[in-house]
Amino acid sequence: MKITEVKTYVLQAMLPDKAFGWSQRVTDRRQTAICVVSTDEGLQGLGEAFYFGGPAKIAAEIISDVFGPLLVGRDPLDHNVIWDYLYNWTRDQGMKGITISALSAIDIALWDIKGKALGLPVYKLLGGAYRNKARAYATGLYEPQNVPSVEKALVEEALGYKEDGFGGMKLKVGYGIKTDVRYVMAIREAIGEDIYLMVDANHAYNAAEAIRLAREIERFNIYWFEEPVPPEDLDGYMEVKKNSSIPIAGGECEYTRYGFRELINRRAVDILQPDLCAAGGFTEMIKIAAMATAANISLVPHVWGTNVGLAASLQFFAALPHIPERRFPDEPFFEYDRSSHPLRDGVTLEKFALKDGYLSIPDRPGLGVKLDTVFVAKYAL
Ligand SMILES: [Mg+2]
Repeated sequence: MKITEVKTYVLQAMLPDKAFGWSQRVTDRRQTAICVVSTDEGLQGLGEAFYFGGPAKIAAEIISDVFGPLLVGRDPLDHNVIWDYLYNWTRDQGMKGITISALSAIDIALWDIKGKALGLPVYKLLGGAYRNKARAYATGLYEPQNVPSVEKALVEEALGYKEDGFGGMKLKVGYGIKTDVRYVMAIREAIGEDIYLMVDANHAYNAAEAIRLAREIERFNIYWFEEPVPPEDLDGYMEVKKNSSIPIAGGECEYTRYGFRELINRRAVDILQPDLCAAGGFTEMIKIAAMATAANISLVPHVWGTNVGLAASLQFFAALPHIPERRFPDEPFFEYDRSSHPLRDGVTLEKFALKDGYLSIPDRPGLGVKLDTVFVAKYAL
């Protein structure tokens, strides 16, 4: 089998009255870059590049202009060989960030092709399913704009997730310690003690501030404290971890086995959060997960894209080992982004829905989703 074409779509949707904020900025739009890898046997693979600071067209251009021409004529089943080749091609200036997100999208598409070629879901190719449904937590509770009371709006949103059956939810913090404590207290009071609550500062603090916040909110039974300090500040991470009774999570801004080696070797976090669509795709996530199991550090993937990235992440999640294996393992939580995203569900013909707090993991070949080409054409830039 040979790759014949690599295509990318940059999609954008505006959020006219649903702009939302977090500790770093406010956004009024969602974007994503989707890639389609075609072969001479008629099989196509889908992938998505994680978009955050974007614009998504940078990832799309790396996929189409840099990696695409290098892929034509290659065997898509050689994903390991291809990964190392492409990584090395841009290594001098592309060891982290958008280049690796672009590489992730391609790698995901190659695994989709492999699954379709063999008639197996990707999780089977990864070694089988530890679970066939994913216990989901809601990522949301961003800062709504133009509301009379942010606190009231957050409480209302949190109660909505409880009603939907979520067993956990994650609140954005990083607005200043006083404000953070007020939001955490209001939400914990509203949802009760039985639902897991995580907080995410998106690296808003220095170590001293993060430790202060951790001590103030530990009484509210916080399951993890995500990205307390900037991703480059590993010493800060270790200081916060040493001084917090709340487990510390991080890794959505880290890339490849080389980046995660530092987080793991220094034991900078309690919970690693690589994003499949950013950290290097399945090929690299397998290696990161292997390192995590060897170090006995939990891994809970970061997930924040459309249904393409979500489908891929569910496949990886099925095959994610228990860390550690034991008789009564604690099921990992799957990140289910509920923030405003008009593109999320529309890009694929298949839809995902929460049932009793879980998302089911497709057992169709590959990622188990097909692109809705009419929808994609409508939102393509
Ligand atoms: Mg986060």
